[in-house]
Order: sequence, then structure tokens, then C-alpha cells
Amino acid sequence: MSLSEFELIRRYFSRSGMTRPDVILGMGDDCALLHVPAGMELAVSIDILVEGRHFPVGTDARAVGHKALAVGLSDLAAMGATPAWVTLALSLPDVDECWLDGFAAGLFALADEYGMQLVGGDTVRGPRVITLQVHGLVPQGQAMQRGRAREGDRIYVSGTPGDAGLGLAIVEERLVAEPALSAVLRQRLDYPRPRIPLGKALRGLASAAIDISDGLAADLQHILDCSGVGAVVELANLPRSAAMRQVFGNPADCWPYILTAGDDYELCFTVPPGQVPAVEELCATLDCPCTCIGRIESGHKLQLLQPDGRPWIQSVSGFDHFMRN
Ligand code: ADP
Ligand code: MG
Repeated sequence: MSLSEFELIRRYFSRSGMTRPDVILGMGDDCALLHVPAGMELAVSIDILVEGRHFPVGTDARAVGHKALAVGLSDLAAMGATPAWVTLALSLPDVDECWLDGFAAGLFALADEYGMQLVGGDTVRGPRVITLQVHGLVPQGQAMQRGRAREGDRIYVSGTPGDAGLGLAIVEERLVAEPALSAVLRQRLDYPRPRIPLGKALRGLASAAIDISDGLAADLQHILDCSGVGAVVELANLPRSAAMRQVFGNPADCWPYILTAGDDYELCFTVPPGQVPAVEELCATLDCPCTCIGRIESGHKLQLLQPDGRPWIQSVSGFDHFMRN
């Protein structure tokens, strides 16, 4: 490496930009020291991004920096936590200063937007792998959990899942679209917007929540498994973006993407009937489109109903790193 490990860390990652008052000691010592305020719980999540697996080789470094943090922020959103601190473990094949510049710019732009401070990490030489741990704060007892959906709850999804999957299909040349449309979909793949304001606002309203990283059907199934319930999803209600409508004229062609494509980082959540008006109002206030796609029922299965009421029998398993190689 041309730069030493310490020069690299100093040049790209020890910035004085964001300094939170609850950081007693940031980067530079053996540990960071962080203050969790009384009455708050610490929400922690870690994600690994491997080049060639989680992002295509050749992805713009800025997008990698953005996405590495966005996936963690999305986990915090799903719990209703407010982002606070982040640690970064970086494995790099070489010191590519141009790549590091872009990566740090993407990472810090998003960190600053959510008031997060980078408080430590580790840097090694190896294949390009980015591991990010996010830490958020949530008032005691108020975090949303997967296991609390109940029969009769409505199932909602934010945004328009499936778009990132179309973006990936374009990158992998499984789908061809005109340049402007390709650019929109590539943006949806590379720059997901974590639903932090929605997640925080749903505390006390939603019974359960999850972020969609592996596909809507598979992630909803996690809520069902954890809560010991089943669900009916009306396929006609699945939200389709303008871009998706442009790619597929027939709604049924969209369903597999909406249900199984990962990487959108939208939220799927359940709402007790009594809270539905409050949630509908909230989504309008936040300018965050959310769509009711079905309801929680007894049992343990996810049933997908076609517009004519017939069940739609399809494999809608999500992404599994050990099943598909
Ligand atoms: P140690 O030997 O105690 O693991 P390091 O020499 O690996 O410490 O790191 C020195 C300091 O720099 C530590 O405070 C560590 O948290 C921080 N650091 C190392 N790599 C990164 C990184 N990629 N991003 C942020 N902080 C980092
Ligand atoms: Mg170290």
C-alpha cells in the first residue's frame, strides 16, 4: 500500500465534521466511549458488503459508501431507532485513493444527513469487503419487533419495492431499457433511501416491522414466523413505480420483482385496525407513500391472491446466500 494504514485512516476517515455530544471518546484509542442517555435503549446492527456479491464489481465508489451505510440505517428504521454512531471494518485489495475518496464521500454524506458519527473501525488488506455496524437509540420498550403482528392487522409496504431488482437486472444485462429509464433504476439500486423518519414515526402505531432487504415475500414471512401468524396479500394492491410500469405493461409481470427482488430497503409493517387512520395520515404528512397490501390472518402461511381471488402459486423465496451460488 502506498499510504500507511494510519495515514489512510487519518486521511479518509478521521474527520472532525460530525461531533456528537454523546461521544465521550471517538476514533484513535482502543475503544470508543459512548453515552447512552437514561431511558433509551441501544439498537445495534451489522452488515457485510462483499464486492461482486452485494454490489457489482465496478460500482461507483460513492454508491458503495452510500449503500454500505444505507443498509444499516434501514435496519435502524425498521426498529424505529434514531441513528447515532457507526463503526467501519474495511478490507481493501490496495490503496486506491480515487476509490477511497468516492467511498468516504458517499458514506459521510449519508452519515451527516442522519447526524451519525464514525467512532472507530479496523482496516486491513484483503478482498474488497465493507463491514459496517450501526448504533441507534430508541426509547425504552418502544422498538418495533418482528414478533408482534396479530390477526386482523393490516400489512403495509413503503415506496415501490422491486425497482432495485430491475436496476440489478439491467446491470446484469438480463433486461434492456432505454438510457433514461436505466439511469432511474440504477439509481434505485445504488442509492437506496433508508426510511428513518417513517420508522421513527411508526413507533407506537405499527405492531411489527421489518426492512425489505431480501424480497418483500421473504421478509414478510419473517414477520409471520416470528409472530406465529399467516397473511393474505392482494397482488392487485402491490405498488408499482412509474419505472416499473414502463418496463412491464402487464401488472402480473411485475409481481415476481416486487415480491422477490431484494435491495430496496423499504419497510414492511403491520398496523392494528384501530391505528390505520393515524398511519394513513402519517404517510401523507411524511410524504412517504405507503400501501396497504393485505392483512394478517391465523395460520402461518403467506397466501398471494390474484385480482380474481384465485391463489397465485409461485415460489417467492428471497435471496439466500447459501442456497444460490
Ligand atoms: P487496534 O490496533 O486497537 O485495533 P487500529 O490500529 O486498528 O487499533 O485502529 C486505530 C484507531 O483507528 C482505532 O481507534 C480504530 O477504531 C480506528 N480505525 C481503524 N480503521 C478505521 C476505519 N476504517 N474507520 C474508522 N476508524 C478506524
Ligand atoms: Mg485494529
